[in-house]
Amino acid sequence: MVIGRWWQGLRVRREQAAVARRAIPDDLWKRTLVRYPFLRRRDAIDAAELRRLTSLFLDRKEFSTAGGLKLSDAMVVAIAAQAVLPVLRLGLERYDGFVGIVVHAGQVVARREVADDDGIVHEYSEVLAGEAMEGGPVMLSWQDVRGAGRSAAIGYNVVIHEFAHVLDMADGLADGVPLLPPEIALDTWQRLLGQEYRAFVQRVEREEETELDPYGAQSEDEFFAVASEAFFVHPRAMQREHPGLYGMFTCFYRQDPAVEAAAAGRRS
Ligand SMILES: [Zn+2]
Repeated sequence: MVIGRWWQGLRVRREQAAVARRAIPDDLWKRTLVRYPFLRRRDAIDAAELRRLTSLFLDRKEFSTAGGLKLSDAMVVAIAAQAVLPVLRLGLERYDGFVGIVVHAGQVVARREVADDDGIVHEYSEVLAGEAMEGGPVMLSWQDVRGAGRSAAIGYNVVIHEFAHVLDMADGLADGVPLLPPEIALDTWQRLLGQEYRAFVQRVEREEETELDPYGAQSEDEFFAVASEAFFVHPRAMQREHPGLYGMFTCFYRQDPAVEAAAAGRRS
């Protein structure tokens, strides 16, 4: 008990030191909230926690760039604040499985290989705005991150997408199932996500307009990532089209972004 309290005290002091080391200047933080309105929290405690976790994130993660891109404080704060939003109530420890974040100026063409049933390997290329791999690093296109304020209107957010994959992969599997709290049974999650995914695939195949990015029809793990993006940046639309999934996400993420959006009086 005494050792537990001592350890807890040490942890708190270390976190306070890290937050002080990585303190975000007021004007930079305000500019970030103006640029990415979905980060604003109506509750003062949540708003302060978002800023505190953003500093801790900056302290724990390592940013690097590719192709000669120069990183500014505004860029790393923009990325960190958006990355932290999904774990605002879950804790930053959810991201302990990786350290590196690689920022590219724009989207990246990745070469892929896939073997068919006869063992013949086919090559193809894929254009990526971001990528998350188990154990890291997380790759992001700055062009896409920078446009996140505007692209929120279509439910698009590359940072939240990739960090939803990080949450999903915490158990070692990219299957659309993150580490669930005791209130959500595994089969409930799988059943609901599966139903919503299959209905979504049918709508995409019929070329219907959807509030979620049609890319989510690729697989259940992409559907989870795409639905998570919309949940945070275009919540009322996501709630309208996927009320059941929205409800389950409020339980998982322990946030209700549609209420935040309504309180802020902004369109979502
Ligand atoms: Zn993805």
